Amino acid sequence: MPEQFFIQPKTYDTSNPYKATIKSNERITPPGARDEVREIVLDVPASFVYVEGQSIGVLAPPPYEFGNDQHMRLYSIASTRKGEGGRGEEIAICVQRCFYIDSVSGERYPGKCSNYVCDLKAGDEIEITGPYGRHFIVPRDNRANILMVATGTGIAPFRAFIKHIFEEKEAWQGKVRLFFGAKTDLDLLYMNDIKDDISHHYLKDTFKAIEALSPRPAFDDPEGLAQKLEENATDVWDLIQHPKTHVYVAGMKKASESLDTALSHIAGSEGAWLRKKRELFLEGRWAEHLYD
Ligand SMILES: Cc1cc2nc3c(=O)[nH]c(=O)nc-3n(C[C@H](O)[C@H](O)[C@H](O)COP(=O)(O)OP(=O)(O)OC[C@H]3O[C@@H](n4cnc5c(N)ncnc54)[C@H](O)[C@@H]3O)c2cc1C
Repeated sequence: MPEQFFIQPKTYDTSNPYKATIKSNERITPPGARDEVREIVLDVPASFVYVEGQSIGVLAPPPYEFGNDQHMRLYSIASTRKGEGGRGEEIAICVQRCFYIDSVSGERYPGKCSNYVCDLKAGDEIEITGPYGRHFIVPRDNRANILMVATGTGIAPFRAFIKHIFEEKEAWQGKVRLFFGAKTDLDLLYMNDIKDDISHHYLKDTFKAIEALSPRPAFDDPEGLAQKLEENATDVWDLIQHPKTHVYVAGMKKASESLDTALSHIAGSEGAWLRKKRELFLEGRWAEHLYD
């Protein structure tokens, strides 16, 4: 079995759910985009305390699959600890409407929780759990370098990171790098015509964002991401060697594989890269949030 570089709790505690109310639910990908992604703003109780990078669990209502007594799915919080738009008790999540093809019948089925959340209306009440993921948070030291690699909705925790670092903290001294892979420019969440929360930070000396569009947008192909990482090999490798660098990867599992491929090339061999990755992980400077 390959070595794992993530921290996954065996079970998530869902015993004390919170009630949350939907404030708004808006599509944040333009109509021509490949995927429907929606930003859902929730009103949460004051006792729900979290920091940037953490996730919530959403409990979808019954019926449940055979053998299960609940259907909980994780969604990253896209807001900072000060709340969405500074409104303390509101948090945003961004959710892609998922469909799956049954390998036997060939039929397309809607994913249960993502479709439930995407169809919610303002005023609806839902149950949430968490927050989870204490390992995926911004370092305290503002001289730390931060390398973020995201695909699709994996941008959500990094939207919170970037807002916190550049809008709520004292001048951040470390280098901040974002590699963001998307199928097309319309799919660049929080960096498109509908909602752009990130590009106004491009002028910051310490910040650099690299958009990586797929050369084959009809497929779930993170090839563009590997290409952009390799094009920026010197900068990426210098950062990875630096003892104050923290690396975060969020989004599709495939993207992490393409990150491994690119970094194996940059490091000179797969073995050299895996040794470095292991070192980062053991020092608490490597964190992943990956899903299919
Ligand atoms: C740490 C973390 C953070 C996450 N953050 C986000 C986020 O910010 N935004 C986001 O959109 N997602 C996020 N996710 C993914 C999210 O938790 C869900 O996995 C996703 O929304 C799909 O859930 P679902 O209930 O809609 O699908 P489900 O119904 O649970 O389906 C999930 C899986 O079941 C299989 N499956 C389901 N139905 C069928 C079927 N009929 N036939 C064959 N196979 C089937 C598929 O293999 C699929 O992988 C995150 C995941 C993790 C682990």
